[in-house]
Amino acid sequence: VTTHPPMKDETTTLAEIKRRITAFVDERDWQQFHDPKNLVMALASEVGELADIFRWVPSDKSLELATNSEQKQAVAHELADVMMFTLELASVCGIDLAQAIEAKSRINSERYPIEKSRGSSRKYNRL
Ligand SMILES: [Mg+2]
Repeated sequence: VTTHPPMKDETTTLAEIKRRITAFVDERDWQQFHDPKNLVMALASEVGELADIFRWVPSDKSLELATNSEQKQAVAHELADVMMFTLELASVCGIDLAQAIEAKSRINSERYPIEKSRGSSRKYNRL
């Protein structure tokens, strides 16, 4: 059994998580199932599991549910599933997610200039 130091957002890189997922998949010979289409299906399913926790919860109660209830661990687990399938999909597609986030953030900054979008929930094409 391989042991690792505890993972934390502050100290764990995306590359490290990607490597761990790849090792987990390789040890089980699951690469054969991890084509992009299957991974998108898995990712969407996990988003559905996350959404199910919040289904019919009043909006003004959802923060309390996610941060201060017996459901907090379930939220964390489903969010981890979403993140892991996101990272695995990026790996299989050869996408550097940090680069992709940087590029998309630049686009979002152009679409949502502060002067037009501050305090507004409108989509960029309706600003
Ligand atoms: Mg799940």
